[in-house]
Amino acid sequence: MDNKPSDTIAAISTAIGGGIAIIRLSGKDALKIAKSLFKPASDKCAYLSHRLYYGHIVNDGQVLDECMLSIMKAPRSYTREDVVEISSHGGLKSAELILAAVLSAGASLAEPGEFTKRAFLNGRIDLSQAQAVIDIINSKTELSHNQALNRLSGRLSAGIYKIREELLNLLAGVEAAIDYPEYDMDLESLPEQKETLNEIKKRITELIESGELGIILSQGLQTVILGRPNVGKSSLLNRILGSERAIVTEIPGTTRDVLRESVNVRGIPLNIVDTAGLRDTDDIVESLGVAKSLEYAKDADLLLYVLDASSPLDAEDLDHLIALSNKNIMLIINKVDLERKLEPGSFPHNFRELYESAAQISAAQNSGIDKLFAAIYNLFAKNRLTLENTAMISNTRDMDSLKKALYHVNGAISTLEDGLSADIAAIDIREAYIYLGQILGESLEDDIIDRIFSKFCLGK
Ligand code: GDP
Repeated sequence: MDNKPSDTIAAISTAIGGGIAIIRLSGKDALKIAKSLFKPASDKCAYLSHRLYYGHIVNDGQVLDECMLSIMKAPRSYTREDVVEISSHGGLKSAELILAAVLSAGASLAEPGEFTKRAFLNGRIDLSQAQAVIDIINSKTELSHNQALNRLSGRLSAGIYKIREELLNLLAGVEAAIDYPEYDMDLESLPEQKETLNEIKKRITELIESGELGIILSQGLQTVILGRPNVGKSSLLNRILGSERAIVTEIPGTTRDVLRESVNVRGIPLNIVDTAGLRDTDDIVESLGVAKSLEYAKDADLLLYVLDASSPLDAEDLDHLIALSNKNIMLIINKVDLERKLEPGSFPHNFRELYESAAQISAAQNSGIDKLFAAIYNLFAKNRLTLENTAMISNTRDMDSLKKALYHVNGAISTLEDGLSADIAAIDIREAYIYLGQILGESLEDDIIDRIFSKFCLGK
């Protein structure tokens, strides 16, 4: 974070093909470059900050487009640098031509996320807020969107800054015990510090607990539908997709080349691995489909295991359930419209609870799906909410930092309780402080920062 960016960058910030395109420039030459191409309609154009000017972009005597020019001088801009935005008629060609002209006038092409990265490097936002920007762009449900907005507002960061400040104060107290042993501040006489550490432990633990939901809201709940052939997996998938207005898109999986259906279940984005779809398109035999699903099940947050109410329990089902018993399984008993042959007594004792809490549905008659959705929501969200007011972490990297911070806070507490050396407590407190700082983007390696911002889209 030592070397602040110096060149002027540019990119098309809007989606290709829309009604308006915005070409955005940021950097010390942004205005100079824009002026070299912009012919204002009025000769009184004063290029004032936070004003909008009408005119044309002209390159080598050729009019490229009619446009509006907006100017946001540093530091009152998205990046804290001089920012100029050229709004042209949309489509593809005019934006491309304007961008090319801007680049030949001296700007360099921005990398994905580089504008937001500059906002971060220039101190306008911290890393958690920068990541909230990606989450806002990617959010698929209202809950996810609200969460990301909460984070962008700095609510999460404020809580973490506060904990860090308290850790610093603690450190001062404990170090006094190290540096001035003559004052006899032995560790047993630090009850206040212990109390503060316990309070910090509680707050970090809460952040970890709520963070599990935060990650789901941001990245989606990885869900796999499992079950033997013909139990109704495809029918269930269709019901899940069909019952929700907000089906969103088919997005290619991030880690593997598989289609995932993204569905909004009461605000929770579910990414359902569509192995049924795989079967249809690739003509993979059914048993291979099950094998594939089992493979995806390993990484899933939620398994919807479908049984057929009109058949007795199959030994293969039990094998699967036992093999997956360390996962979050929800049992779906489908075809309840038919005569029941699935006996509760066929489930071993340790699966009774799973059986009792199963969702009873008929995919054919579209019944029980609402209850299934309620059960999914309750499993992941119910007790973690007051979502409107809470700001949660949203990625596994932050979760890892929180867990490491907690580990060191626990270490410091044990040291003080056992009356051990203040030096050791000080080391733990310092480590916890550093790990929490990583969430805000402090003392992170440049390549990690680059990796985080590379997930952004171009022009953001
Ligand atoms: P999959 O092989 O597990 O994906 O199962 P399908 O969804 O293709 O369904 C297999 C068969 O069961 C089809 O003929 C469906 O029409 C039928 N089916 C699915 N759900 C129900 C249900 O709730 N009730 C009844 N009676 N039939 C169903």
